[in-house]
Amino acid sequence: MKNRVAIIGAGIAGLSAGVYLQRQGYQTEIYEMNEAPGGQCTAWKRGRFTFDGCIHWLAGIAPGDPMHTLWEELGVLENTQFHTEPVYMKFYRGGQTLSVYGHIDELRKEMLRVSPEDKKEIERFYKAAKKASHIEILQIEQIGKKSFFQKWRELTKTIIPIATLYPWFSVTAKKYSLKYKNPLLQDMMRGLFTKETSMLFNLILLSWTNRNSVGYPLGGSLEFIRRIEEKYKALGGKVYYGVGVKQANLEGGRIVSLALANGKITEADHFVSSTDAHFILSKLLGGKYPQPGFENAFHNFPMFQPILLISLGLSQKIESFGSLSGIQIAFTEPVKFKENVIDRALVHSLGFDPSLSPKGKQVLSITVETYFSLWENLYLSNPATYKLEKERLAREIISRLEKDFFPGLAGMVEKMDVASPITWTHYTGVYRGAHEGFQPSPTALQNAHLLKHKIEGIENFYMAGQWLTPGGGLPAAALSGRSVAALIGRSSVIDDAPSSS
Ligand SMILES: Cc1cc2nc3c(=O)[nH]c(=O)nc-3n(C[C@H](O)[C@H](O)[C@H](O)COP(=O)(O)OP(=O)(O)OC[C@H]3O[C@@H](n4cnc5c(N)ncnc54)[C@H](O)[C@@H]3O)c2cc1C
Repeated sequence: MKNRVAIIGAGIAGLSAGVYLQRQGYQTEIYEMNEAPGGQCTAWKRGRFTFDGCIHWLAGIAPGDPMHTLWEELGVLENTQFHTEPVYMKFYRGGQTLSVYGHIDELRKEMLRVSPEDKKEIERFYKAAKKASHIEILQIEQIGKKSFFQKWRELTKTIIPIATLYPWFSVTAKKYSLKYKNPLLQDMMRGLFTKETSMLFNLILLSWTNRNSVGYPLGGSLEFIRRIEEKYKALGGKVYYGVGVKQANLEGGRIVSLALANGKITEADHFVSSTDAHFILSKLLGGKYPQPGFENAFHNFPMFQPILLISLGLSQKIESFGSLSGIQIAFTEPVKFKENVIDRALVHSLGFDPSLSPKGKQVLSITVETYFSLWENLYLSNPATYKLEKERLAREIISRLEKDFFPGLAGMVEKMDVASPITWTHYTGVYRGAHEGFQPSPTALQNAHLLKHKIEGIENFYMAGQWLTPGGGLPAAALSGRSVAALIGRSSVIDDAPSSS
């Protein structure tokens, strides 16, 4: 049996592929360019504070949810406590707040309270959200032979309900928001996920909150990923940290080895890359194996708009915002940074996680959307100016928040760290800082099936990771690892048929 698998990248997708392959009896090795696991699911220390660069919310935590099985299999649920809130997110503009309650009935009441003049559209939205509340978009058995029960479940829980909600599928959040007269409701529709997101995706997001299936795992990203790494190692998997992979060496339509950045090579029977899709196609494979699905995607799907993440260690605890994913604050006057007009910020208060700060203090994070090319040009022209500009912009955003929402904020800041899109690309290789890959726009969702795990033209090479599922995120990346393991399992049986018969 051909049973050695080399995996590139120890982010969640690479580790997940490793766990499922080890469970199937393969010998796997992961090569990770960084010194620690996690990829984008990470956090970093600044003094006595831990600044989390990823998890705000994890979907699929409710028992009975198909994704719950995945988290259980990956070992992240054992002894994990989840912080949950009845409100998923809040929106603030000019002294008024809208709370996006997780429960759809409560949300309807709140929307009507904020904007009775939008009653007709609110009722239409509520009806659709109710209908969507049972859809399972992330099926655990994505690939491989499905039983009759699984096929029936897919038909009734996913395909038919999606078909009946087609008008919601085909409209973006940005366009749909214009149906509302009230600016806060417009903010909500645009800000639930991303502006180009299909409204059906937003309805499905609300179906997770409605089922109490989203939460924040206490301990944050580092603890979360450490548990998966532990599971992988307990199953006999090996990870080599600080070992980047430069190139794949091919012979007769198969990869025979990987050239490592330390000058060595490694051989295996199967290869999986969970790194950035652009890197795989253009560098690892030298642009020799264009994949039609990805060619189309990189031309036609919108990628996630990169972010500037300002992490603050505060000298004191502040009153909780009472929402899981923070509060989006619309500025009365935008902050301008070249052509980047920043008119809002997502503020996340992490006082509920004692592991992130010393006693009596807390972490607060501020996220704003920005453009990759602005930071790239700045960094390439002068790294010192780039650093100064990051900090200057962060201070300007903090002072805008002080004016509009949070008096006294600047005075509480004990530590500050600013991560730009360049930071993410530098540490994880993610293409143009698109931290969740492709946005789940109507076009992306309609063509998502063309993004294949198996690389066409190469017999033994597979892709895992966020780029395979528009919308990205931890569940999709983890699921891709499971799917790749199922594919390899199947192809090995086919490869080995003559010798084993
Ligand atoms: C600020 C922020 C907030 C987020 N919030 C959430 C959230 O609340 N909930 C959620 O579900 N998702 C969230 N996400 C998204 C989530 O973090 C990602 O979708 C997910 O971690 C992607 O995992 P991945 O394994 O596909 O890719 P990655 O994490 O990018 O992993 C790829 C790995 O490959 C390694 N690598 C790259 N090139 C090489 C090479 N040449 N050789 C060896 N190794 C290499 C990288 O170092 C990395 O470890 C957030 C992301 C960010 C940035």
